[in-house]
Amino acid sequence: MFAEVIVDVTNSEVDRVFDYKIPDSFLVSAGDLVRVPFGKRTIDGFVLKTKSSTDYPIDKVKEVSKVIIGRIIKPDILNLILQLKNQLFLKYVDVIKLVLPSEIRNGKTRTQYNRLIHLNKDVNLEEYINNLPKNSRNPIALINFLQQQGECNYTELSKKYGNSVVCKLLNDKICIEDKIIKYRSIKFQKRDNKDIIPNIYQQSAIDTITKSDYNKFLLFGVTGSGKTEVYIRCIKNCLAKGKTAIMLVPEISLTPQMISIFGSIFGDDVALLHSGLSVGEKFDEWNRIYEGKAKIVIGARSAIFAPIDNLGIIIIDEEHDNSYISDSNPRYETNKVADIRARYNNCPLVLGSATPNIETYYKSETGEITRLELPTRANNKALPNIDIIDMLPEFRSGNTSEFSQILLSELAKTVERKNQAMIFINRRGFSSYVSCRNCGYIPRCTSCDITLSYHKECNELKCHYCGKRFKAITKCPECGSDEIKFGGVGTQRVVQDLQELFPNVPIIRMDVDNTRNKDSYANILNEFGKTKPSILVGTQMIAKGHDFPAVDLVGILDADLSLYFGEYRAAEKTFQLITQVAGRSGRSEAEGKVILQTYFPKNYVYNLVASYNYKAFYNKEINLRKTTNFPPFAQVTRILISSESQEKARENTRIVFEKLKQIKLEYKNKIYYFQAMQSPQNKLKDKYRYQVIFRYSIDIAEKVLKEIYAILSDSTNSKTSIFVENNPLSLS
Ligand code: ADP
Ligand code: ZN
Ligand code: ZN
Repeated sequence: MFAEVIVDVTNSEVDRVFDYKIPDSFLVSAGDLVRVPFGKRTIDGFVLKTKSSTDYPIDKVKEVSKVIIGRIIKPDILNLILQLKNQLFLKYVDVIKLVLPSEIRNGKTRTQYNRLIHLNKDVNLEEYINNLPKNSRNPIALINFLQQQGECNYTELSKKYGNSVVCKLLNDKICIEDKIIKYRSIKFQKRDNKDIIPNIYQQSAIDTITKSDYNKFLLFGVTGSGKTEVYIRCIKNCLAKGKTAIMLVPEISLTPQMISIFGSIFGDDVALLHSGLSVGEKFDEWNRIYEGKAKIVIGARSAIFAPIDNLGIIIIDEEHDNSYISDSNPRYETNKVADIRARYNNCPLVLGSATPNIETYYKSETGEITRLELPTRANNKALPNIDIIDMLPEFRSGNTSEFSQILLSELAKTVERKNQAMIFINRRGFSSYVSCRNCGYIPRCTSCDITLSYHKECNELKCHYCGKRFKAITKCPECGSDEIKFGGVGTQRVVQDLQELFPNVPIIRMDVDNTRNKDSYANILNEFGKTKPSILVGTQMIAKGHDFPAVDLVGILDADLSLYFGEYRAAEKTFQLITQVAGRSGRSEAEGKVILQTYFPKNYVYNLVASYNYKAFYNKEINLRKTTNFPPFAQVTRILISSESQEKARENTRIVFEKLKQIKLEYKNKIYYFQAMQSPQNKLKDKYRYQVIFRYSIDIAEKVLKEIYAILSDSTNSKTSIFVENNPLSLS
């Protein structure tokens, strides 16, 4: 027998599958982690499949040296590897990295055990004690202790009676040690869950989903419509049928609040996978899932690769969220991966959102996806009123601050009522750029060529792309002038200004800068939750999922920021973001209000957002996409070519572009756009970036993509990297 093996080396030239002979004495199957000779070394590899013959000359084929872990990749995941390899422009090793986290691959993290010691029932203790040398006080005391106690862990016994005593008793078979896996798992905070009786919309959705085999659903429900309850009931139904579930949520929504809801309902059946876990925790959670001890995986994007058997449902909550599209290597779209797994397991895939992606909603119109609607808020509360405030007259009448008069007076009312407010601003730091008034110099990151942001607390300039930090400037390094201007308002500046206006009100900030630490996110939310009155100032982070009953005011300072990003999704993303932020207001008794500040109050996006009319927005947007040939009627493919050498990157881009021209010739007017260029973000993390952008009709998408991949496979070299993204979130 022979094995096809993917070797675990990160080297662009060896994206190949190698044949190895399986020694007769070995049992090797697909999915095994094996050790194989490779050149002069031996390295790890993964068995893709086994077969009875090989096309290579038999005397050249080497033998598998050892099986390290059998079936580390399960059949479901193996299928995924093959499909992803086909559909995305990825190397095998990259796909392996997706399905096996480094904690599992690198062999450095280990299982922890509890070593429990008890007495051996099959020996004559009395006889043993009598034969002990005189003054053997400790062994006798230990035996007595265990007679009373039954069992005790190793460390404690060693502390009490000495390590050598414990070892001797184990050696003499007087004591026996049981090794029990000690999972470094997350402890849930228990809470009482109210008993909820689903309303007719929820019930109908639950019935349809639980009866279904493989099918895709869009659970389209306004914010607060009770989608969570639908998920819970569908998952319960799965468990009852002996099946399992994966539920994905945006990283940011993995709040202690949300985790404790699922923890209290499903207990140890739940495994959590997200970036806040320690290495050990991740390792243990992965193993609990792998061994079938956990039946429900809740996690962020990468949890879609969890090695769980017998899937009965996959849920993607807030399916429109940007975090579901991986934009660094390996690049993938989560819902496509989920679809492959749902198909393989013949189970439903549920996409939930109040503001679905235009493409998802379009599919629910054409029938590719079944739409289930929850049109009302579960508690029958009205959605908060959104006031659109034109900032131009404010500015003209001399208000140069970032707050409109009405926002300030509403804030004062909220404070008076001892309620809470949230202020949303899509920029972190103190000011978004620093510049010289005299010569216009703007400091940029030396690795990324990105404008640096000023952070007041540490008096530093930071690159928001790579995190590099620079000394703040007091003098212009170009012209020597000391007239330095701080432009663009960020979260830190807003906090400072609000604190001056409301000196006695606690003002809490939340953005990436103060939530890096594992617990800080939960701590800030906790603090805000119990401080009344108070104001929470934050970036996108505060928009998602939080349920604070006392919030009765939400202020959106700079709605326009995302509207003019210049991507085809700008309107869509703005609509989604504002709906989400607005949804934080007035969730309980207090009636909610939203103040949206803009310089473009007539923009249709704002007016449709204010009337919560997703469908009207969708209709407008889909027509626009159709007439302008954008997704879902077209596909955008970006081929990103990067290298540490600007020369090499440019050269390879030129070569690739020349080769790709044949596709343009072949499909002519079905290719709407085809250009090579320097990336707007020309230098990022010390690499120079160039790109070729294609936009082409959706009916030829599959064929075109295949041809692109074929051409690119012939164009890889060790000096440049090539990545392909379809419908990327950003082209910068
Ligand atoms: P969504 O995820 O759709 O925004 P949630 O699932 O967070 O909404 O539900 C909003 C609130 O409504 C929660 O507090 C939830 O407990 C409550 N809820 C859900 N379903 C019902 C129901 N059938 N009757 C009463 N309250 C409900
Ligand atoms: Zn200057
Ligand atoms: Zn940088």
